[in-house]
Amino acid sequence: MLTLESACRNPERHRVLTGDRPTGPLHLGHYFGTLQNRVRLQDAGVELFLVIADYQVLTDRDVADRPAVHAENLVLDYLAAGIDPERATVFTHSSVPALNQLLLPFLSLVSVAELGRNPTVKDEIAHSRQAAVSGLMFTYPVHQAADILFCKPDLVPVGQDQLPHLEVTRTIARRFNDRYRTDLFPEPQALLSPAPLLAGTDGGKMSKSRGNAIPLGATEDETARLIRAATTDADRRIGYDPERRPQVSGLLRLAALCQDRDPHAVAEDIGSGGAARLKAAVTEAVNEHLRPLRARRTALAADRGHLRQVLRAGSERANAVADTTLAEVRAAMGSV
Ligand code: ATP
Ligand code: MG
Repeated sequence: MLTLESACRNPERHRVLTGDRPTGPLHLGHYFGTLQNRVRLQDAGVELFLVIADYQVLTDRDVADRPAVHAENLVLDYLAAGIDPERATVFTHSSVPALNQLLLPFLSLVSVAELGRNPTVKDEIAHSRQAAVSGLMFTYPVHQAADILFCKPDLVPVGQDQLPHLEVTRTIARRFNDRYRTDLFPEPQALLSPAPLLAGTDGGKMSKSRGNAIPLGATEDETARLIRAATTDADRRIGYDPERRPQVSGLLRLAALCQDRDPHAVAEDIGSGGAARLKAAVTEAVNEHLRPLRARRTALAADRGHLRQVLRAGSERANAVADTTLAEVRAAMGSV
């Protein structure tokens, strides 16, 4: 099993791909779930690809209107968090046509029943507020396989919700290699952080599209307002018990991650102070932790041209890699 430490020890042996959907600003769930690991791997010298999965946003009609703006803002969040465009390749799915050509052979390698069983697709469908499930939504994990496998990474830093998707990618890699008697694709492994499923202000998975997120780029006042509106319970004695008190425990965990402490210790400090003291402590911890990132973000936001340039350069590099892989796939399949 690959760990962050082992990958960082031998950076030249690894390649990482990971990404986000441009459905809104990045939040603390991304930051503690995958973004910190991406930056650590990059800083250790591991080659990093970041895909902004803009075509996947077409599955959410209510937010499909501004993916290009969201994509630029994702770049802003990445750079503020420490992604270095000189070392990492940041690109949008839509700017790399070969990805969609990988999709058809990949679709032939999975059954409809397998896609129907995918728990993350089921969950995303349940939250999509759509009357009918589109073919695009249903085949989501297969697009993701193309987005991942084109650059043949061995490691994918993701949150826990992505594990079933990554399993589909691994299956596709294995079946492609078996069917065409090749070793073209590695079976990439997931890299989970210690916070693989950070809770939002309602106690459920923090998500851009569920109205429960604390964006990295929020102001300190907005952060305070979001945390003040978080759901808690009536017990004034604050304790860390994720099973019985998911909302209070989610908030404690957030403060603990920001302060690099144990959530039980954070709870001890608050004692019988109730939800108001808990929320004040969490707000302070989050704002304190994010202050340097937010300062960098504000400075970077002044130059939108630079953000677009990062995407252009990333897209050029990703296209070169994807075209090579597509040629190899065609050769393996015996077609030209
Ligand atoms: P959406 O609501 O549009 O699906 P999202 O907030 O779930 O947005 P994604 O772009 O789908 O964000 O996910 C990007 C990456 O961040 C994935 O690897 C995902 O697992 C991870 N991630 C998202 N939310 C969390 C979270 N709350 N805790 C840990 N990791 C997360
Ligand atoms: Mg998601």
